[in-house]
Amino acid sequence: MSLNTWFSKTIGMASSPAAAHKHGARAAAAFAASLTLEQVERRYGASWALRGVSLAMTPGEIVCLLGPSGCGKTTMLRIVSGIEKPTAGRVLINDLEMAGPNRFVPPEQRNVGLMFQDFALFPHLRIIDNVAFGLKTLGREEARREAMAVLERVGMARYAEDYPHILSGGEQQRVALARALVPRPAVMLMDEPFSGLDVQLRDDIQNETLALLRETRATCIMVTHHPEEAMRLADRIAVMRAGRLVQVGKAAELYRDPTDLFVARLFSEINEVPWTVEGGALRTPLGTFWVPELAEGDRAVLCLRQRAIRLAPAGQGIDARVLHVKFLGDAALVEVGVQGFEAPLKALVRESEVPPQGREVAITLEPERLLVFPAENGEGKSQSNA
Ligand code: ATP
Repeated sequence: MSLNTWFSKTIGMASSPAAAHKHGARAAAAFAASLTLEQVERRYGASWALRGVSLAMTPGEIVCLLGPSGCGKTTMLRIVSGIEKPTAGRVLINDLEMAGPNRFVPPEQRNVGLMFQDFALFPHLRIIDNVAFGLKTLGREEARREAMAVLERVGMARYAEDYPHILSGGEQQRVALARALVPRPAVMLMDEPFSGLDVQLRDDIQNETLALLRETRATCIMVTHHPEEAMRLADRIAVMRAGRLVQVGKAAELYRDPTDLFVARLFSEINEVPWTVEGGALRTPLGTFWVPELAEGDRAVLCLRQRAIRLAPAGQGIDARVLHVKFLGDAALVEVGVQGFEAPLKALVRESEVPPQGREVAITLEPERLLVFPAENGEGKSQSNA
């Protein structure tokens, strides 16, 4: 079944609105649902798209899934939605097994909503009917009223009676968002829902989407390539790499205490200084950094956040020289040369504190903001302290 056929079916059969309606509750109100993945695996031939993925989400929680292209994000959404079966492991919604060794609940019975990157509106339906499509269990007028309310939220109400072809790509995306959200599914899966929008519009639509998700208490996994977007929207961020969840936590946790270099790079601009462990420490011109967890002769990467390097007058820290200054508006990126380092260090400083190029200065570091990781995949080869 193609994605779009499936999408239409799911939306058409979204069960919670109907159930709520029958019981006299406000139409289209979702129930909050927990979502659990237990050791989910997905193999294609000899290669693994997902390996040992476990995640427990509380009802109404929003998790942003962040990771490079091909790491398995879409596969994870497809498995939660039921479009695809896991090779191993279990998926549970409200502790009920949706997929596992003994059970497979088809997508249309999961009350899961989807918005994929390759969304498609129905060209022969007016915008309002596109959005109301998922509310077939309501009466036509009621469905249109609900659809209109959500179209207003995404700023598209004025196009309600038009057909999709007159809309720009970004406008179509907003309609697709409305269509996905209007049935108020218990679990919402969104694959880069804001990717085609310009910056200003993206902010507005993100806010509205967030408000709608909160209102409906949908439990949501949202895929994004943008760490800032994840930090802004998510209750927790799940970082994925090569089919595995490498770290799951609140934005501040991932920023302050990244589990590896890969996660550290996602959340801040860092200087990476490769070094070799000698006598249990990295003995650098910036100071000695003890690394008891690393073995003698191991290669390590010392990470200095650009914001954690402070410039001071010469003599008040580690000697350095300003090599280059790049103005970035309120801040400036200052490259400084430090004796003993092959590559310059980059410091992000306030525009008002920028010294002129060529000036002898000093740098100071905030030790609690330094990170050290073992070098991996050939990292750490570019500079030697030997
Ligand atoms: P992107 O950010 O580019 O959308 P992604 O993180 O969503 O990437 P997936 O689409 O989940 O990645 O793909 C994960 C891996 O599984 C990739 O290596 C991909 O080539 C592979 N893969 C996905 N679907 C199939 C399939 N039907 N058959 C074979 N391999 C597949």
